[in-house]
Amino acid sequence: MVSEDPNIIVGPHYERTTDSSLGELFLMLLRNHNDIVLQVDARTGEKLPANLLLNRAVLLAKWLQKNHLGPGDSISMSSENRLEYCIIPIAAFLTGITFVPLNPEYTSGEIKHVLDLSKPKLIFCSANTANRIISGKANYPYVKNYILLDKIYKESHDVISYEDIVKGAKTDSVDEEFVATPVNPDEAVAVILCSSGTTGLPKGVMTTHYNITAYIEIASIILERNLRDSYDSEDAPEVLTGVAPFFHGMGFMLMLLSMLGGRTLVVYSKFDPKEFLQSIPKYKITTLVIPPPIVLFLIKHPMVKNYDLSSIREIKSGAAALGKEVEQEVSQRLTLKHLNQNYGMTETTLGVLMPTGGDHRVGSVGKLVPGMKCKVVDSEGNSLGPNKEGELCFQGPLVMKGYINNPTATADIIDKDNWLHSGDIGYYDNDGYFFIVDRLKELIKYKGFQVAPAELETLLMTHSAVADAAVVGMEDELVGELPLAFVVKKPMQKVTAADLEKYIAERVSSAKRLRGGVHFVEAIPRNPTGKILRRILRERVRKMHSKL
Ligand code: AMP
Repeated sequence: MVSEDPNIIVGPHYERTTDSSLGELFLMLLRNHNDIVLQVDARTGEKLPANLLLNRAVLLAKWLQKNHLGPGDSISMSSENRLEYCIIPIAAFLTGITFVPLNPEYTSGEIKHVLDLSKPKLIFCSANTANRIISGKANYPYVKNYILLDKIYKESHDVISYEDIVKGAKTDSVDEEFVATPVNPDEAVAVILCSSGTTGLPKGVMTTHYNITAYIEIASIILERNLRDSYDSEDAPEVLTGVAPFFHGMGFMLMLLSMLGGRTLVVYSKFDPKEFLQSIPKYKITTLVIPPPIVLFLIKHPMVKNYDLSSIREIKSGAAALGKEVEQEVSQRLTLKHLNQNYGMTETTLGVLMPTGGDHRVGSVGKLVPGMKCKVVDSEGNSLGPNKEGELCFQGPLVMKGYINNPTATADIIDKDNWLHSGDIGYYDNDGYFFIVDRLKELIKYKGFQVAPAELETLLMTHSAVADAAVVGMEDELVGELPLAFVVKKPMQKVTAADLEKYIAERVSSAKRLRGGVHFVEAIPRNPTGKILRRILRERVRKMHSKL
């Protein structure tokens, strides 16, 4: 289908069929799922059926309401993936509260930066994160209570046990009484995930109830097509891997979609190679939803051949680029029916380019999803035709509402005609298949995790020996990219690369460490307005790398 500008690609037809909020939708669907097992803990085998999940979420929702929380408020959570995780966002949706997940590896500085964006009233913490979060509580006075998922301390006036709130949830019946708090789905923010976008420090991406309900509807159109085009009716029911972290868009949306679809998600607290491989035959996993480094692990690691992986029929990869060769090799080795590489951003709710039928092109991220528009533009903003590389821009129901409390950054990424400028370079072929070729924006991706150069540059500049700094990504086959710093020393200062690597490692979460190293230079190339010329630096890194 072609619109007024022939270079604008329009996805297949999508018509909005619901004005429900996520709370209303989850109530309806979870009630229907009854005792279907929606999640299983990979390590312990503990099961979470839909009725228990819903009854606990309703108890928590009532507790939140009793504590005067509702639309306009937000609650946060810092935890690894676990069975309790999904209950907190569902309770938030039921009460019209915004859910703000945190990376459980965040250091105290990172926690403060992210919490200050949305100022949540409560934080749910696991045993692994509680000390780090609660010890910094003077930094976030807006947080009234800390809710412990594990009973590791005695309760006090502001520390409450999650178990105490949800205990007594029935397993033999489904709550039929509770009514979700009404919200305007087009305006109300369901979740705030973190992303640095195309430039600057991490920001809070406001995803509305409608962004997510639209995604659910669009995903079901795609799933129907895939089922029609490429699945056999005798295929075993879908069992998926929940190893992608739930605090990131990919893991979060997977958690929601698997629940709504009544599929079983096997939940891993972290990626442990042996546990992961053992779990595949144990739970008869059919679908791996994994970032590229885990796909690579499946073809590189010698222990993989010791496991029966024959139940796997599909891999869905996303969050970063998957090499063409890797894609071909893993498909052959595991005799997969499908390997789907998706493309999306936190700012587009999830994948907006994905394989939407039986037909697949190696190296492609598929076609535009229903309901969305896309154009590829050159540096002057002209839309380009097929097979021409330019920046991918998107418009439609999956584009975020904006960055919280940051209209300037929002206006930088969404233009006045509502086109979201992705900062990624790609093209589409004559049949509408998209290919991603490069990145225009600053963002570095380490194992699919975002690393914002501006964040590391700001930190480097706080070191007394640093006069100027620039951080770029160094390509790496195993992890995607490694953050690497170019640093100008202050005159007469003594500092080594190892000193600066350590300085950063002490202040940031693991993905952001300067694993690509620190290189001292005379000057950082900048344009006349002071903007770092990252292309020049990335080119320098490529040359350094090719000499190794
Ligand atoms: P995030 O918001 O963390 O999901 O990061 C989004 C960014 O990840 C995109 O703007 C791309 O730069 C990158 N990305 C996601 N999926 C792909 C893919 N399939 N191929 C290449 N880059 C990707």
